[in-house]
Amino acid sequence: MITLNLSIPTHIIVGSQEQTTQATVDLLRTQWCKQGGGDCFCSECKQISHHQHRFLAWLKPTKDYTVDDLNVLFQITTLSLDDNQTFFFVLEQSEKLTQATANRLLKSLEEPHTGYHFILLTENLNALLPTIISRAEILTLARAQMAEAHPLVAFFLRGAPLTAVQDFEQLLQRSKFSDSDSQQLLDELFEHLQSKLAAAVEIKAGPGLRSGMTEYLMAATSCVHKAMAMPPQSGSSDLFWKQLWVSFPRQ
Ligand SMILES: [Zn+2]
Repeated sequence: MITLNLSIPTHIIVGSQEQTTQATVDLLRTQWCKQGGGDCFCSECKQISHHQHRFLAWLKPTKDYTVDDLNVLFQITTLSLDDNQTFFFVLEQSEKLTQATANRLLKSLEEPHTGYHFILLTENLNALLPTIISRAEILTLARAQMAEAHPLVAFFLRGAPLTAVQDFEQLLQRSKFSDSDSQQLLDELFEHLQSKLAAAVEIKAGPGLRSGMTEYLMAATSCVHKAMAMPPQSGSSDLFWKQLWVSFPRQ
């Protein structure tokens, strides 16, 4: 169970979408439920579990966050609250804030009226604006078992041959990844490769015992790392993934 430091208005909870959503529901219930949450079915608890409450606005992005998605926040925060009131904004998938929406949001986070709290949920802290991170309380949830890889990531992890290019392109066409989706998938791929590499190094510890697998995983990790330095921009995701597909090392 996590608790917020309510002396600052901005909080970031890092973890899987499911975990962070549940953690937020739990902490809002302890905030508002008269029995303190837990196995309670009072009207407050019921509302909160449906992400609805008179002192709560729970926001989700349409695809990437747009200014429209955040309008309710911009509007409500212009009003001041009574002394003992607390109002929470929850932003699911806050890694989907674009540069423009994040900068707009930043203005609301900077000096809000007393009582407003912003809880940003994310799977990927690195995707948030450093200026937001630096003013926030960061709460990282223990990682549940590494989630099953996204189908696109799995293509790389299982070392699908170049000849599988048609299936790969079909997946790209079907999914229409946005730039921020792509960055997240790239991070996911990197993370998986790193943990595979760590496991491979552990097995073959000792000088001169570097296995072919370790060599391969090092090459693959470095290839993805290079790609991360030049992530897709302005809708070039398909091309980006095709290029990575071609340059990705194969055993
Ligand atoms: Zn309750």
